[in-house]
Amino acid sequence: MYQKPKGTRDILPEISYKWQYMEEMAKQEAKKCGYQEVRTPTFESTDLFLRSVGESSDIVNKEMYTFKDKGDRSLTLRPEGTAGVVRAFVENGLVNDTMPQKMFYIVNNFRYENPQAGRFREHTQFGCESFGINTPFGELETITLAKTILDKVGVKNLSLHINSIGCQKCKPIFNRALSDFAEQNKTSFCEDCNRRMTQNPMRMLDCKNENCQQILKNAPKLKDYLCDECKEHFMKVLELLRQNGIEYVVDTSLVRGLDYYTKTVFEFISDNIDGKGKSLTVCAGGRYDGLVEEIGGKPTCCVGFGMGLDRLILLLSDVEKPQTDVYVLNVGGVSADKTFEIAKTIREQGYTAQSDLLDRSFKAQFKYAEKIDARYVLIVGDEELKTGVFNLKNQQSNTEEKLKLDEIIELLKRGE
Ligand code: ATP
Ligand code: MG
Repeated sequence: MYQKPKGTRDILPEISYKWQYMEEMAKQEAKKCGYQEVRTPTFESTDLFLRSVGESSDIVNKEMYTFKDKGDRSLTLRPEGTAGVVRAFVENGLVNDTMPQKMFYIVNNFRYENPQAGRFREHTQFGCESFGINTPFGELETITLAKTILDKVGVKNLSLHINSIGCQKCKPIFNRALSDFAEQNKTSFCEDCNRRMTQNPMRMLDCKNENCQQILKNAPKLKDYLCDECKEHFMKVLELLRQNGIEYVVDTSLVRGLDYYTKTVFEFISDNIDGKGKSLTVCAGGRYDGLVEEIGGKPTCCVGFGMGLDRLILLLSDVEKPQTDVYVLNVGGVSADKTFEIAKTIREQGYTAQSDLLDRSFKAQFKYAEKIDARYVLIVGDEELKTGVFNLKNQQSNTEEKLKLDEIIELLKRGE
C-alpha cells in the first residue's frame, strides 16, 4: 500500500469543510480591507529565496526542497509566500502603480522540517501583503485584520507579541555588537548559534536552546540600538494599537526567522493550547521595507503576515457541517426514474439534494439518508407521482408532512 510522504497529510471530507470555512472567512475579512487575491507559482528559482528569505535563515539552510529541472535550472518549492508575491509585484510592474496595493493569498509551503504536532513538511498559510505604506497605520491595519480573523476562529488565550528589529541603518550596528559579545562566549553556544554569530547574529536571540538563552541575558539589547526613526515609528505603532484597544506584549527577543524583516515584527501566540502550558504561534508577520529593492524594484515599504492554517484548524470552534437538505427516496419502478429529476429541481433552487444511484431497496436508501445526515427525506411512490403530493419527513423531529414540490421548496426557503 502506498503511504503519503512523511510530514504531509490528507485532508478528508470529514474535516475539509472546516478548511473551506476558514479560508472563506479569512478571504472575506481581507477583502473588506481592500485586499485582492494574488496567485503565484508553487516553485520559483532558488535564487529568489536565497536573496529574500536570506542565506543565513533556517529555511534556506535546512528546510528547502530544492531540485534541478531537466533544463538544469535550480528550482525550489515555495517555503513561504512573501518572496513570490514580491517577485510578481516587481516583475509585473505593479511597483509603478498607485499605492497602497493590498494582496492576499492561500498557499501551501514546503519545508523539510522535523514533523511534530502543528509542524508539517507541507503546510498552508493565509497571507496578506500590503505595499507602499510607510506609516504605522500599515502595521495597525495588518495587525487588526489578523486579529479579526483569529478572533473569528475563536482562538483562545491569544496574545500579540511585538518588537522592532530596526532598519537597514541600525540593524547592522546591533548585529556587530551582538557578534562581538558572542565571540567572547563562542564555545558555550549551540552549533546553530555558532553559525549565526557570523552570518546573522540577531537570529541567536530566537534560539530555542535554554543554555544559549541564559548566556544571551547579558547580551546587548536591541532596543538600545534602534535609531531615532525606528524608535519613533515603533512608539507610534504601539500607541495606535492602544488607541484601538489591541493588547500587546513587547517581546524584545522576538526577531523572526526570515531575513527580510525591518522595524516591526510580530507574532500572535495561542497560549496553553493543550492545557499543559504549551503555546503555538498561529500568525507571524512584520514590516519588510527593503525587500522590493533587494529583488530589483524601486524602494517600497511593505508590511504583511502569514497565518498557519494547519494550526488554526485545530483551534477552530464549532463550524456547521454541510448537510444534504433533501434525500429523494424512491419505492422502485417508475418512481426510481423520477427521483433524479426531482433532486435536480431542488438543486436548481439552490439546495442540496441527492437521489439513489445504486438501485437500492427502500430500506437501504433510508439507511443511507441517515448516514449522510440528510435534513429531509422526500418519499416518491407511484401514488405521489400521480397526485404531485409527497411525504416529506423531517429527520430531526421525526415528523412527516404531505406537501407539493413547490411547497417543499418554500419550506426550505423559509429555512425550516
Ligand atoms: P517557527 O518558529 O514556528 O518555525 P517560522 O518562523 O518558521 O515559525 P513563518 O515562516 O513566519 O514561521 O510562518 C508563519 C506561520 O506559519 C507560523 O507562525 C506557523 O503558524 C505556520 N508554520 C510555519 N511553519 C510551519 C510548519 N512546518 N507546519 C505548519 N505550520 C507552520
Ligand atoms: Mg520555522
